[in-house]
Amino acid sequence: MSDTRSKFYNLFWRNFACQNLFLLSKEELLDKSKISLDSNNAVISYPRLILSNNLDSVFLSEKVELRRSNTNVELDSDFENRVENYKPVIQAIVTDKIKKDVELAVHKIEEKPLAFIFSLIKAGKDEDEQKLFEVLQKYKIIKPHINSVQELEMSIKRYIQQNFKKAVNNQTVLDFHAGLTTIKDYYTNSQYQRLISSNQITVNALREVDNYQSRLNLFEHLFESGIISPSKEDAFVECTECDPGTYFGTMKMRIQPRKANNLKCPICKSELTYYIPYSLHKDIFDIITSKDGLLLDAIANHLHKKEIPYSLNHLFNIGIEMDCCFDLNNVKHLVEVKMFKTENTTDQKLKQKIKSALSKLKKDTISISTNYNQGIQYFPILVINLPSKELLSTIEQEILESELKEIPVMLLSDFVDYINASEGKVLNLLPSTK
Ligand SMILES: [Zn+2]
Repeated sequence: MSDTRSKFYNLFWRNFACQNLFLLSKEELLDKSKISLDSNNAVISYPRLILSNNLDSVFLSEKVELRRSNTNVELDSDFENRVENYKPVIQAIVTDKIKKDVELAVHKIEEKPLAFIFSLIKAGKDEDEQKLFEVLQKYKIIKPHINSVQELEMSIKRYIQQNFKKAVNNQTVLDFHAGLTTIKDYYTNSQYQRLISSNQITVNALREVDNYQSRLNLFEHLFESGIISPSKEDAFVECTECDPGTYFGTMKMRIQPRKANNLKCPICKSELTYYIPYSLHKDIFDIITSKDGLLLDAIANHLHKKEIPYSLNHLFNIGIEMDCCFDLNNVKHLVEVKMFKTENTTDQKLKQKIKSALSKLKKDTISISTNYNQGIQYFPILVINLPSKELLSTIEQEILESELKEIPVMLLSDFVDYINASEGKVLNLLPSTK
């Protein structure tokens, strides 16, 4: 076991805020971004956690969000104005002569598009530069006297020199710099929006069970143990006491979590609203993003501590895989692990997912005990990551009334209690008495 993983579990088992945070599904825990292409979406998780004080007050968090969306509205109209300013410059550079050349090339390609593509592919395959240039000349993409990359470079340079004065004058340079500032402002705003979308959930989920101080303490412990470290990503700060646009921005920040409260507005001395990303150690990131996530790894860690031999992702040769199997008091335990997203879901949907996991586990247990029944007693357990015991109780109530009642559903804390209580004792296998 790596040092970082040992240090992590040292903290994990004694700190409830740590358990609450790291037992969130990876989509809720990690800094993430959504990439969309046509109708396909992919969520990419980054090895980062974000510390923020923004959700301490609903009023303040709304205030910051409103300010950023207002800034976006201003930036959009500003950007349109800048594009308008560039139009004459672009028109000056793209002379009628060039337009005609481009039209001619497009026309040539449109006549026989497949022939053009095939000749390009052939030239590329043969790695024959001469042939490639012949194709480009044939389709009027380049001038007939250009026969090499060097000649193409020279021709582009000559073109820029001829048009330099048209393109570079006081107005265009001023517009260019103003354009760069707009791009920087866009970046600042988008960075904030990215930070809030990944952080809001982390903080919300924790707020039900922890307070801000326990979260700050947790980040400090994680920092001290090297599980998180300063990130190369930009942090975002804003003063909500000053007028909009007075003091806000992105910046590089290497700061211990507990010192984040010292961040004050240089103008009015109020506490700043901050979003500070921290890099998450690769060993822990790998566990979180593994197939069964941190929940299965924590179960393995507890069994290891208790010196109970176990096997992970155990394959029975009847095509059934169990997340974790171990023997305790002459009973073979079959553990199935499920980490659920609690974001954007309903209790009803969660109940449905738990019931379907239980049905599958029941079916698998019956198949295993039928095929491997040599006086072995099997005991299935479903371990899940619900944020509250209350929700589990209502679900259990429904399950007790169904045919799935013989399989206990446990949170990690229940599983730990169960293992600790079972040591050296005869098990009572009924879930209602656990
Ligand atoms: Zn201020």
